[in-house]
Amino acid sequence: MDPIEPKDVDLAHEEELRLAALRRYGILDTPPEAQFDHLVELAVRVFDMPMSQITLVDEDRQWFKANYGLATSEGPRSESFCSVTIVQDGVMVVPDATQHEQFRTYPNVLGEPHIRSYAGAPLITPDGYKLGTFCLIGTEPREFSEKDQDLLASFAQMAMAELKLRQALYDVSHMAMNDALTGLPNRVQFRQQLIEACRRADVSGEKVVVGLLDLDRFKLINDTFGHLAGDNLLKDVARRLKEATATSDVVARMSGDEFVLLLTDVRSVVDIALVTKRLQDSFALPFLIGDQEVFVHWSLGLSVYPDDARELDALLGHADAAMYRAKQAGGGHTAFQRQEDQRSTLQVERLTALHRALEREELRLYFQPVVHAESRAVVAHEALLRWVRPSGMVSPLDFIPLAETSGLIVPIGRWVLRQAVDTLKSGRLQRLSVNVSAVEIRQPDFVEHLRWVLTESGVESRRVLLELTESSMLEPRFAAVLKEINTLGVRTALDDFGNGYSSLTALTNLPVQVVKIDRSFTAPIGEDTPAGHKALELVRGIVTIATALGLPTVAEGIETSEQAALLLKVGCTYFQGYLFGRPEPLA
Ligand code: C2E
Ligand code: MG
Ligand code: MG
Repeated sequence: MDPIEPKDVDLAHEEELRLAALRRYGILDTPPEAQFDHLVELAVRVFDMPMSQITLVDEDRQWFKANYGLATSEGPRSESFCSVTIVQDGVMVVPDATQHEQFRTYPNVLGEPHIRSYAGAPLITPDGYKLGTFCLIGTEPREFSEKDQDLLASFAQMAMAELKLRQALYDVSHMAMNDALTGLPNRVQFRQQLIEACRRADVSGEKVVVGLLDLDRFKLINDTFGHLAGDNLLKDVARRLKEATATSDVVARMSGDEFVLLLTDVRSVVDIALVTKRLQDSFALPFLIGDQEVFVHWSLGLSVYPDDARELDALLGHADAAMYRAKQAGGGHTAFQRQEDQRSTLQVERLTALHRALEREELRLYFQPVVHAESRAVVAHEALLRWVRPSGMVSPLDFIPLAETSGLIVPIGRWVLRQAVDTLKSGRLQRLSVNVSAVEIRQPDFVEHLRWVLTESGVESRRVLLELTESSMLEPRFAAVLKEINTLGVRTALDDFGNGYSSLTALTNLPVQVVKIDRSFTAPIGEDTPAGHKALELVRGIVTIATALGLPTVAEGIETSEQAALLLKVGCTYFQGYLFGRPEPLA
């Protein structure tokens, strides 16, 4: 037996790392994509060669991401020129394969497609792995000058840039759809899956069960053991929930310690009982925090489509009401009951208070500057709503959801718009961004009202920008409303981009003129951690796409000058954040 040389071990390990790098790009066996096709078409024209490929060298095959002129989509690695290219330095050139020691016996030289000439430039990742090549193939002998080789290397770099962007986009959409901590689908993906499940149930006549599961006294665990332990526990909980449900069921994380289950194919209550039993069994065993055993209890509220409601929000609301009742009863699970249709007293009280807030003039607008990334000149302000209660200030994050579900957001939104326009009219601020909720946009007279307020005040519409977020962008009919808004001369911005609700498709399809990049992306930037580096790459990807679509970007939540410097480098157009000014009332 031959001794195994340490060199061979190194090589095998190196190849393993290379293959792992290739897998991270998630490109193998994906359908053709225009950006890659364009590159090979361009190369064929520029070099006047009949064939060109973007080749990825897999474990035992070469696979073509883009292919001009060849009939096959992959071939064995052992007979590929490209697998030789990637183990050499620089561009590999074969002016005449029939004269080449090694290649002249290759089946693709002796037979179809009768390769005579070849030039390949490696596709090199930022950390130095060669994933494959950008190559040219001819059926006649051909020389490749230094200049040709440099040009081909540039083609390879362009292909690599596209691969990197594609991966960044993939990460963005993955982040947009999944919860970072547990890896479970997030509420956005959950909503989409719920809509689909209900649609399927409409056809099949089966039922869909929504289960809202909230951990009992989770705060206590956080307070006692710390947040890191709390996070780990949430991951364990996620794992057990997944194990206790069928693979076709969905387990998603809504927020904090709140999970949601989606059970499909439910024929009767027996099916539901089976699931709750399995959940109980799986939580009957303690969880481990360090070497400390803790028992985790939960409250689960169930609602059934279409029996309890046909409307998505109502369905979730019912599950929430049932969960609340389970919680008050000390845990366990309960199903939705009709009389729970009314909200818990707590919410009713808050709603009444919010109603009065309008009358009592407890609502205020604060203004935060938006600055030009390079000159730092203030270009506009964003109007941010505050509820100043006698007991203290309430964050819009706390009362806007309530205002939305109750419909109170409509009069509140009108008040905000009126205040904003009055401020512009007074000349104290030049341009204003106003946040608008999906519920407002859904009002049939939204555009009419906007037109009326603008006309009546005489404020030029170009001084107003409407910011729209999240779910509003998922509704296709909103595109038409946004167009109408644009027709008035009012621009629109996609707010909180990347936060999970907005999607890349929205960006390409919607009439928006500005993209605001969510604070969750900018916050980690500047940290010397994997998360910090990744965030910067993601923002770079978002900015690249936005710029390609001709859209300026606003990076939100900038707190440090280091963040500002990095974000300027990746090409953000405008900045907003505490570094440049906090939201403040007008003096
Ligand atoms: P948004 O539109 O994304 O507004 C930016 C939020 O980020 C504001 O939170 C702002 O105070 C905060 N922020 C800005 N710079 C920084 C920073 O450097 N660091 C940190 N930590 N935070 C920063 P705020 O005022 O609490 O508003 C929260 C959300 O409530 C807004 O997010 C917006 O979606 C909504 N909202 C606010 N006013 C209105 C309104 O009049 N109508 C509607 N429908 N929604 C509103
Ligand atoms: Mg906003
Ligand atoms: Mg925002």
